Amino acid sequence: MRAVRWHGAGDVRVEDVPPPPLPGPGEVRVRVAWCGLCGTDVHEYRFGPVHVPVRPHPVTGRSAPLTMGHEISGWIESAGPGVTAPAEGDLVALNALLPCGACRPCARGDVQLCLILGHLGQSADGGLADLLTVPASMAVPAPPGMSPELAALAEPFAVAMRAVRHAGRPAGMPCVVIGAGTIGLAAALILDADGNGVTVLDIAKERIRHAAGLGLAALEVTEARAAGIQAPVVIECSGAASAGDAAVRFAEPGGVVVIVGLPGGPSTLDLADVALREIRIIGSMSHLADADMTPAMEILAAHGERAGRIVTARVALAETVSHGLDVLVGPGRDRHAKILVRVHADR
Ligand SMILES: [Zn+2]
Ligand SMILES: [Zn+2]
Repeated sequence: MRAVRWHGAGDVRVEDVPPPPLPGPGEVRVRVAWCGLCGTDVHEYRFGPVHVPVRPHPVTGRSAPLTMGHEISGWIESAGPGVTAPAEGDLVALNALLPCGACRPCARGDVQLCLILGHLGQSADGGLADLLTVPASMAVPAPPGMSPELAALAEPFAVAMRAVRHAGRPAGMPCVVIGAGTIGLAAALILDADGNGVTVLDIAKERIRHAAGLGLAALEVTEARAAGIQAPVVIECSGAASAGDAAVRFAEPGGVVVIVGLPGGPSTLDLADVALREIRIIGSMSHLADADMTPAMEILAAHGERAGRIVTARVALAETVSHGLDVLVGPGRDRHAKILVRVHADR
């Protein structure tokens, strides 16, 4: 079968590899429909290994080369012994986390904080391939009528949903979202769908235009600063080094700042300001299948047309590098939010 495999920094190959094994007890094999390219894939392509293990991963036992991709939709191709749901032919989105199940965070249900967390497409073969075998518990059924393309947005929307939930899933509140990439736009659309007044901030004109095209109020960071904008809810999705400080300044007294974006290094924060204005800063890591992905799917189902416009390009599997990863590291990258790779158009 075809697979997009990470071999090293700048060395990602579309290869012919043996198909994954038929599903064992409790497993399903998925025929991949679409797989999104994510900032972490781009990071791995440019600077890896970042998360790809060079020695066998403690949960999966795998190391490079590995098949990339963790924003996956597809159909159940076959189900192993004992699997009652999902059934063959069902459209699913995959939860990408591979926790150990034994450490303290895992024991209390915080599997996204597993001390040795693995991840599809990083520490196990991912979705940029014809087929993928995973535990059935990782397959989250898509609501009836959802397109496979939209289901591939379930993972990034689940990440955004977790951040919004960390902010108390507000309704009817002014909210600021920093960063108009996929996660920022998804967070803004969720907040907007919940009846909040959302302002999206970015520094790149193309991304601001894209956000405005989705019907969101969008401003340059400097404009928002000049206008003195403050909100009770600020979600930082840009990952810019200076964004933590900026996020705190956009929060009103008693406000909450949720950090989803990952800067490349430490950030400075005015902690006196944090204390004096009682700003609550909360980190948000990935997502959970039930608590985050299920409500994210509900938002996608209800606002599919608008959410689908986060997708800025669709490319064939064979073009994943040339028309996908290379575009996202190139000079035109600000024109893109989500690039989806089409693996199979139909079941
Ligand atoms: Zn991702
Ligand atoms: Zn664990």
